[in-house]
Amino acid sequence: MIIYNTLTRRKEQFIPMEPGKVRMFVCGPTVYDLSHVGHAKTYTQFDLVARYLRARGYQVTYAQNLTDIDDKIIRRAAELGIPPQQLAKEYEQAYLEDMAALHNTSVDTHERALDHIDDIVAQVQALNDRGHAYQLDDGWYFDLTTFPDYGKLSGRTDTRPEDALSRVDENDHKRNPGDFALWKARKPGEPYWDTPLGPGRPGWHIEDTAITEALFGPQYDLHGGAVDLIFPHHEAEIAQMESASGRAPLVRCWMHTGFLRVGGDKMAKSAGNFTTIRDALAKTDYRTLRYAFLSQHYRSSMELDESTLDQARGARRRVENFWRLIDADHDDQATRDLTERARDRFYARLDDDFDTPAALAALFDYIREHNRSGQQPGRVAGNFLNEVDALFDTFDFAPDETSVEDATIEERLAERRRFRGEKKFAEADAIRNDLKARGITIEDTAAGTRWWREG
Ligand SMILES: [Zn+2]
Repeated sequence: MIIYNTLTRRKEQFIPMEPGKVRMFVCGPTVYDLSHVGHAKTYTQFDLVARYLRARGYQVTYAQNLTDIDDKIIRRAAELGIPPQQLAKEYEQAYLEDMAALHNTSVDTHERALDHIDDIVAQVQALNDRGHAYQLDDGWYFDLTTFPDYGKLSGRTDTRPEDALSRVDENDHKRNPGDFALWKARKPGEPYWDTPLGPGRPGWHIEDTAITEALFGPQYDLHGGAVDLIFPHHEAEIAQMESASGRAPLVRCWMHTGFLRVGGDKMAKSAGNFTTIRDALAKTDYRTLRYAFLSQHYRSSMELDESTLDQARGARRRVENFWRLIDADHDDQATRDLTERARDRFYARLDDDFDTPAALAALFDYIREHNRSGQQPGRVAGNFLNEVDALFDTFDFAPDETSVEDATIEERLAERRRFRGEKKFAEADAIRNDLKARGITIEDTAAGTRWWREG
């Protein structure tokens, strides 16, 4: 298998430290708000990575962190007048529900920062013992001049205010402008933990390396995240762990996903085009959303809009229509050979840096060839399509038993209108949910309710 490594800026043979085993970490969310569709893209694409590595026979341990203490959490909780940990718990739950709804099922363990306070403190102490950390009145900092390799991942060493995720820690007494906080001293009205570093709370970057050191040790195989985390977050992770352990590299292979753009802009809350995963799943089904993400290469940036989703729906339908032609009792050598060749091409594309668009193209070539051959698709075709769906989780191969007649839908919508008129919203919502379960999505507009079939 070949993977593009951000650290070396080229595609490389992927060789895990221990044969057959992959230790994989992907930066999780800061749980202070609902997750947006940009998160959905990143986590769906890494879900495929983990599923594919497993399909290739690797024993994968996939960990994600949850940032459950942070400036953003404290600020939002103060606005809402609730304790920060309550806010974090609620949005952690919402995040896990969103991932389940997207069928992002491959994470083995979600690790909360607050469950690793001791590991975090121990790592800051190790950095201090080795001369990489120093203390100011507002906490502990990493001294960048002690790590000459700083910048090796991103090619950058300076922080700029426009870095949305830099979370710059300002203190005029820092030794270097880019020095980042390892431990933030207690501030009035903020939560804190009493530790040998003094009362306070963890810096953001140290969570990940404390968690991965606890789970994997000082070096592991694969670290993923969105491209905007490369600097300074991942650079800081490298500085911390390689300084604390004296061993390099922290990670053999760094993988980064491209931006999601909605309406031409980078998907970000600050840009005002925030669309939550919940919004997206109310408008379309999880398979179509997954297909939209997986039909693009993970490193590309992509647009998400109505036309992307329409294309995804149409492509899914072509595969599902082919599925309906399959006769599982049928088998012959010609279709076996045809399928075997297609299967080889499909896996070869994924072996090359998880090239999902090329793998899907190989699948469509196969369907075209099969249709042209005039042969009945049989058991081997069914097996192949099931393998594809076990990786992508984007196709509905269930028999068409739940299909609902148009007239029935109209009847039920009339019933729902009546309930809404009587302010019986629970009953009205039950109809919406029942239709949704049968693949019918409805949308209330100024011109009335419109509906469409998913997939
Ligand atoms: Zn992270």
